[in-house]
Amino acid sequence: MTASTNIVWHESEVTKAERQRAKGHKSAVLWFTGLSASGKSTISVALETVLHQKSIHTYRLDGDNVRFGLNKNLGFSPEDRTENIRRIGEVSKLMIDAGLLTLTAFISPYREDRGQVRELLEPGEFIEVYVKASLESCEERDPKGLYKKARSGEIKGFTGIDAPYEEPENPEIVIDTDQLDVKGAVNLILDYLSDNGYI
Ligand code: ADP
Repeated sequence: MTASTNIVWHESEVTKAERQRAKGHKSAVLWFTGLSASGKSTISVALETVLHQKSIHTYRLDGDNVRFGLNKNLGFSPEDRTENIRRIGEVSKLMIDAGLLTLTAFISPYREDRGQVRELLEPGEFIEVYVKASLESCEERDPKGLYKKARSGEIKGFTGIDAPYEEPENPEIVIDTDQLDVKGAVNLILDYLSDNGYI
């Protein structure tokens, strides 16, 4: 539902396909989802570096970073988490239109919210990357000390502790970070992108 009336979509003369041709690769979003500390940010940062070295035009949207600006008015209630993901979906759509290979790193715990983003985009534009790690590994890594705070009750509604994480049912890529190191994860995604004609 849109809040405004009397608005009309104004087409550009330069199309998405033309932008992709100019860049020499497809545009899509690599949607990293998984528990906090599963490795979404670490893997997406490493992947972006390699893609950049290959002259692929990328942009990375990261959970915390976006909450400093665009989504600074949102918290971690179920409604706000849904709105957070909706906005990131819309921003990803714009970036895909701009011809960028977009990487997003958000817990995005709800299957329905991720499904909505998939539906918002064209077939093949939503590449769901499930970054998998056991809760035990995530708690052990705890790079930001958040699990400790969640266990002590200082943080409420923390995914995996007292808020749900709904695993993807048919993700395009699964990365088991209890088995694969960062380099292995990056190579797995690069192979997917070249095997499927994105790069
Ligand atoms: P998220 O973005 O999912 O919250 P981060 O990338 O911020 O997670 O943190 C993941 C932590 O786990 C980092 O400290 C990283 O060095 C560590 N780590 C250990 N093994 C792996 C792995 N195989 N893949 C990714 N990160 C790993």
